[in-house]
Amino acid sequence: MNYQRTFNFSAGPAMMPEAVLEEIRDEMLNYRGSGMCVMEMSHRSAVFQTIVDEAEQDLRDLMGIPDNYKVLFIQGGATLQFSMIPMNLMKNGKAVYIETGAWSKKAIGEAKKVGEVIVAASSKDKNYSYIPDCSDLDIPEDTDYVYICENETIHGLTYQTLPNTKGHVLVSDQSSMFLSKPCNVSDYGMIYAGVQKNVGPAGMVVVIIREDLIRDDLENLPIYMQYKTHADNGSMYNTPNCWAIYCCGKVFKYLKSIGGLEAMNKLNEEKAKVMYDFLDNSKMFTGTVAKECRSLMNIPFVTESKELDAEVVAATKAAGYDNLKGHKSVGGLRASIYNAMPKEGVEALVDFLRKFEENYGK
Ligand SMILES: *Cc1c(COP(=O)(O)O)cnc(C)c1O
Repeated sequence: MNYQRTFNFSAGPAMMPEAVLEEIRDEMLNYRGSGMCVMEMSHRSAVFQTIVDEAEQDLRDLMGIPDNYKVLFIQGGATLQFSMIPMNLMKNGKAVYIETGAWSKKAIGEAKKVGEVIVAASSKDKNYSYIPDCSDLDIPEDTDYVYICENETIHGLTYQTLPNTKGHVLVSDQSSMFLSKPCNVSDYGMIYAGVQKNVGPAGMVVVIIREDLIRDDLENLPIYMQYKTHADNGSMYNTPNCWAIYCCGKVFKYLKSIGGLEAMNKLNEEKAKVMYDFLDNSKMFTGTVAKECRSLMNIPFVTESKELDAEVVAATKAAGYDNLKGHKSVGGLRASIYNAMPKEGVEALVDFLRKFEENYGK
């Protein structure tokens, strides 16, 4: 290797597996004898159809997606789903949302434009530093769905157990944890994820939705906003994000090759442990999230002052560890250590922070 790759701790877009980037590089000018790059290819061509079909099949294999779920590749990012979900799934005009941080809050804001939103539990009282108890929520009988953000990217918390929805459909935003660990798809009515956090390039969302939730009585909804449009047309009603589908497909194959989501989860747990063990033993740095709700992917932490936070961010950046500045709503620092962050990256960062602490003021 004649170049140095940065350990990029960005919350997204984020690192991709190096092996995948190399494959993409090798296929850039001539994809498998087609004489063109995937960026230049008709989405109606047989060669691209194979790319989409394989991407979907590999994702189905990885997650064990049951046959009665559709897999859709849609543009507009995870943000468009904040609107599409209530527009498509609110039959009775009522949904329960759990408020655990910035992303669930945004989803609540959009859903309120469509129907009645009941915030059945919230951790706003402690600046979203814990997951509220969701074992016995007050859920009206005619609620259309229960909504969670399963990993809050900004606040760095994750669910250990899914809410008890009392028989209602569960909808989950998995953007910043998608494919980080095994997932029992049939626990959900719908899962979605913007791919630029844990999978591939920005500009696409993966939607996994149970077929019976796809309605055909929504003619007045703009055609692009209906799940039915995407489901009936194999995610190709219009030109899809061909590039993102291609790159994500490669990541799905890569994950299969390293042993699937079990293996990925094991590695993610090891990586997070390196970081949390350090934080728990440090006098200078403190994690901001209740231990039992800590994310494996996004790890926010602070020092005793804003000035010192800024000093550490500057020092890490100078040392080649990028994007550690925390989100403004939490402050401090945040290390996002998604699937593609190597364990060596986390170890190197911890080593750097440990030395920073030891030498501080000397
Ligand atoms: C980043 C993020 C979003 C927004 O994703 P876009 O693709 O930028 O719209 C939504 N939810 C979560 C949990 C996120 O991390």
